[in-house]
Amino acid sequence: MSERVVILGCGTCQLEVNRAASSVLVELKKGSFLFDIGRMITLRLAQLKITQNKIRNIVISHFHPDHVSDLIPFLHAASWSKIDPRTVPLRIFVPKGGRDFIESLLIPYGKENIISSQYSVTIEEVGELVGKPKFLIDELEVSFLHLPPAGNHGIVFETSQKKIAITGDAFFGEKLRSFIRLAETVIIDSGHLSDEEIIQLAVEKGDGTIVCSHLYRDLDINSLENLAKKEGFTGKLIVASDFMQIT
Ligand SMILES: [Zn+2]
Repeated sequence: MSERVVILGCGTCQLEVNRAASSVLVELKKGSFLFDIGRMITLRLAQLKITQNKIRNIVISHFHPDHVSDLIPFLHAASWSKIDPRTVPLRIFVPKGGRDFIESLLIPYGKENIISSQYSVTIEEVGELVGKPKFLIDELEVSFLHLPPAGNHGIVFETSQKKIAITGDAFFGEKLRSFIRLAETVIIDSGHLSDEEIIQLAVEKGDGTIVCSHLYRDLDINSLENLAKKEGFTGKLIVASDFMQIT
């Protein structure tokens, strides 16, 4: 199996056709998962012909709609689609409080109308806040680290080539500054950062690749990279787009 990490959505709550809300597909030899499932991500999966049974694990960074709102359409389709019904179990990994959150999302629809009897769903609370900063997806170890704001968690994992970190949402601060040094390639929420903060993060990281995702605005990435390089950054700054393959 070839490994790939693909940005399915580089957008935010803003309604933009070419930027679905937040999600990254991770397919590795040791384990595979979907990180976040915001608006339009179910369609992005269909566009890539990724059928229900290929998604065994979903990891949710936090419970803002732009990171989780396509979960209900995904489960609904899993139960009732005539072209792609689900037949295998699904595990959903969530931060503290996530089990109650998902259960409460199901109530208005009736749980049995969304999750049919042909497959099972287990919801596991993980992360630093419940004393499980690491967990396994098959044989893949995933670090799930609290990264403000709003109960958000970023993830770190290793492909057979390199370490990758993804922030979910992240505000500029001490935690983000140390988080981006945990991996060679980092996919960051650049929407909540100023140009100056992106440059500072790159300079502090020193090398490697920073992929600017969760885009609220267009970035002049060449000028940002040049400014960072003047201060000693030797890596690459990239602007994310939907379907961009990171590895
Ligand atoms: Zn967000």
